Amino acid sequence: MTEKDRKRRRGRRTADLGNEIITLENVSKAYATGAPALNGVSLHINRGEFVFIVGDSGSGKSTLIKLLLRELTPTSGYINVMGYDLVKIKHRKIPKFRRNLGIVFQDFRLLKDRNVYENVAFAQRIIQVSNKEIKRNVPSILATVGLAGKYKAKPRQLSGGEQQRVALARALINRPTILLADEPTGNLDPKNSWEIMKLLEQINENGTTVLVVTHNREIVNSMQKRVVTMKKGIIVSDEEKGGYIDED
Ligand code: ADP
Ligand code: MG
Repeated sequence: MTEKDRKRRRGRRTADLGNEIITLENVSKAYATGAPALNGVSLHINRGEFVFIVGDSGSGKSTLIKLLLRELTPTSGYINVMGYDLVKIKHRKIPKFRRNLGIVFQDFRLLKDRNVYENVAFAQRIIQVSNKEIKRNVPSILATVGLAGKYKAKPRQLSGGEQQRVALARALINRPTILLADEPTGNLDPKNSWEIMKLLEQINENGTTVLVVTHNREIVNSMQKRVVTMKKGIIVSDEEKGGYIDED
């Protein structure tokens, strides 16, 4: 092999690894009943991006999120997240894979009988972080989401916006590489929706790759991020600094 060939090969290897952190190639997902939820979706997301996923109810957004979490496997196609081939990944490797993902849902999913501190600490106990470290980390992450004074409160004593901040703190405390949020502002008023989105933006500015499924037209249009629009299981548009496409 000549020096020129070697250089070319090195160049290609770098390009192959690239910056891509999420890859879907021709992914389809059919449930037992009904039309396929995803039908030949290809999507490439680089490390550090902020991406909105929008589209009508039933267009396949949550199915896409569940595939990225490896909660589901595709019927066909290729999915790679952070270097893990999610079709071939061994079951015993899934917990290690998920450790690098933070996830937030519309309905918060907090432990109702535990206080704010315990809800957030729980995520660290699962991965066996020491109590000493947890005591240092939890107040710091609660301060980041603006909840420093609420650590003793139970979820029912908090507003929806506050509960979503707790869920966000829990998603972030293990310093995930990717944060996935499936309609995180779906149950919030406009003011709290904006505050949560601004937090997501701040998290992204600190280096985390962020994917947000949302119906919030006003926020999507004003934030000027990449917007992937889905319709009936396919991606119908993918725009840098995009907006919300009117359905009808
Ligand atoms: P979105 O999040 O965009 O509203 P989903 O991904 O939840 O869409 O759903 C996409 C399609 O797949 C819908 O038609 C929905 O009814 C169907 N679907 C979702 N989950 C299941 C399931 N567990 N079993 C059968 N069909 C499902
Ligand atoms: Mg959904």
